[in-house]
Amino acid sequence: MTRLFNFSAGPAMLPTAVIKRAQQEMLDWNGSGMSVMEMSHRGKEYMSIASKAEQDLRDVMTIPDNYKVLFLQGGASLQFAMVPFNLLAGKQSADYINTGVWSKKAIAEAKRYCDVNIAADTSSNGFTTVPTQVELKLNPDAAYVHYTPNETIGGVEFDYIPETGDVPLVADMSSTILSRPIDVSKFGVIYAGAQKNIGPAGLAIVIIREDLLGNAPESTPAMLNYEIAASNGSMYNTPATYSWYMAGLVFEWIKEQGGLQAMGEINQRKAEKLYAVIDNSAFYANPVPKHNRSWMNVPFTLPDADLDADFLAGAAEKGLITLKGHRSVGGMRASIYNAMPEEGVDALVAYMEEFEKNQSL
Ligand SMILES: *Cc1c(COP(=O)(O)O)cnc(C)c1O
Repeated sequence: MTRLFNFSAGPAMLPTAVIKRAQQEMLDWNGSGMSVMEMSHRGKEYMSIASKAEQDLRDVMTIPDNYKVLFLQGGASLQFAMVPFNLLAGKQSADYINTGVWSKKAIAEAKRYCDVNIAADTSSNGFTTVPTQVELKLNPDAAYVHYTPNETIGGVEFDYIPETGDVPLVADMSSTILSRPIDVSKFGVIYAGAQKNIGPAGLAIVIIREDLLGNAPESTPAMLNYEIAASNGSMYNTPATYSWYMAGLVFEWIKEQGGLQAMGEINQRKAEKLYAVIDNSAFYANPVPKHNRSWMNVPFTLPDADLDADFLAGAAEKGLITLKGHRSVGGMRASIYNAMPEEGVDALVAYMEEFEKNQSL
């Protein structure tokens, strides 16, 4: 068996220990004589799996009691619509901070339902920075403020949580959730697609402050109404049972690693190693100022795009795969989520140094 170091932005690597555990439990979960995939979502076995997963996530993230945790489908992209449906609450306008590809998609979707005030926009520098707090042009009457703490494609990450006063703050944390401790109480809504740092695709997690529930207009489709999801324990219809179970195994694994404090220390170290090779060479480049660099997605370019194919082929020979950058940025991108072992980053660093050296021979 060979497990490669897979730097995919998502679906991404899962911890090997988690996949092995799922393998052991595949045919017969806990003496039930059933695979998790075959269980009724309303049966006592599955209910125990679902509630343990929620409790473990609550423990890991220290989610306050006045927040609901929802396990939904439709990915992060459906949240681009669910947020305005549920949070406008009669208001006309919402604030959006535009820092890259994913912010732009959230904005395009919100424009179908409300006026979007762009509170800040970093497109003029190619989405390589994060606006500071004083640069945010916030509307005090906005229904909410939406931002993307980590832009998965640009590799740009906020180094602060925007202060929005009484206006609820909404964060698309798809590519940074669980990467380090965060103060959930600063947010109205946190949402994330699962396939980066949570589990397999097919699941989205929403963490919502309870006072924000129950404000969707009557015409809102039931499946898009947070209140209906919350009052039905995320089982208004059949949930993504297997993905939810797998997410639960990942939450347990994070606990075993020492929780988010420990994850954050490992992630910071992994990211610093990679940025150090880039910064210590005149060969590799990353355009993002140090304090706005993502710990999870590290884009970098070679001096000449003609070298990209060679770089990728040589990396694949060493078991380092899916390093090709997003077409909008070019070059390479190494996504180093929680499940990427530090040895994977070490192997990439060694390969980058070797590749650079071979060019000057
Ligand atoms: C991957 C990603 C998305 C899209 O997630 P889907 O689950 O595919 O809809 C949205 N936002 C961010 C920040 C992402 O990284």
